[in-house]
Amino acid sequence: MSRPSALGTVALACCLACGLAGCAGTAGADDDGRVDVVVSSYPLEYVAEEIGGEHVDVANLTPPGGDTHGLEPSPQDVATLGEADVVVHVTGGLQAAVDEVVEQQQPEHLVDAAPLADLPGDPHFWLDPLRMAALGRDLADELGEIDPERAGEYAANADRLEESLAALDTRFAEELAPCRGATLVASHEAFGYLADRYGLHQVGVAGLDPHVEVSPARLRRAAAEVRDTGARTVFFEQAAGDDVARALADELGLATDVLHPIERVAEGDSYPELMEANLAALRAGLACAA
Ligand SMILES: [Zn+2]
Repeated sequence: MSRPSALGTVALACCLACGLAGCAGTAGADDDGRVDVVVSSYPLEYVAEEIGGEHVDVANLTPPGGDTHGLEPSPQDVATLGEADVVVHVTGGLQAAVDEVVEQQQPEHLVDAAPLADLPGDPHFWLDPLRMAALGRDLADELGEIDPERAGEYAANADRLEESLAALDTRFAEELAPCRGATLVASHEAFGYLADRYGLHQVGVAGLDPHVEVSPARLRRAAAEVRDTGARTVFFEQAAGDDVARALADELGLATDVLHPIERVAEGDSYPELMEANLAALRAGLACAA
C-alpha cells in the first residue's frame, strides 16, 4: 500500500471537518463564531476586512509583497480554499491556477468580481473606487446569507465603505478634471478602469500581464503612440522595476514616476493610502491644464 498523497490527506481532513461542523447550509458558525473568508489578492482582502470587520477571519492567498498575477496556489492554499466559508476571487485569468481550483471545488459561497471587470481581458477593476464599492455590496449580501444575525451590520459596513470610496472618487474626479483627455503612459497596463472613470487615455507598454516581456517592436509602437500626445511622464510599478519605463522615457525625453497597481502590497500599506499616492503622482505627472 502506498502512503496517502498530500492531496488525499487534505481531502480527508476537509471531509472530517465537514462531518463535525455539519457542512450542509451552516457555514460560518465555526468555533470562534467568525466567518472564514478566503481572498486571492490584496484589493479583495481590503474589501473583506472593511465589510466583515471583527466578525471575519480573512486569509489572503497572495502574501504581503507577493505578486498577484499568475499566483500558483500551494497544496496548503488549496486546503484553505476548501475550508473557506466564503471565497472572494476575480475569475478570468488574472490567477488562472486559482480559477481552476475554484472551478473544481465549486464553493457554496463565492463572490466573483468578474462582472465588475467588464473591460475585455482586463482584471484590474480595483483601480476604480466605485467598482470596489460594488464589490463591498456583493460581499455584504453574501456574508448576510451565511451569518444572517449580522446581516444588518454587514450592510452598514458596505454603506460606510461606499461612502469613503465615493469620497475618494470625488477627489479623483475633481483633481483630475483639468487633466481630462491627458495620456496616461504606464509600463504595466493596469489603469484602464481608472483612465475610463476619469477621462484619461491609457497607453500601456508591457501589457495587461506584466510578466510578458516587452519586445523592441512593442516599445517602438508605444513610443509612436505617446509621441506628440503631450505626455510628460512614464509611470512604472516600483516593485517591478523601471527598465521598460526608463527605456521609453529616454526615447521620448520624458520623466518617470511611480504609480501603484495595488498588486504587490507591502504589509502596512492600505488601499486608500496607495490610491491617494496615485492621485498625487497623476496630478504631478500628467499634462493638466491647471
Ligand atoms: Zn496587473
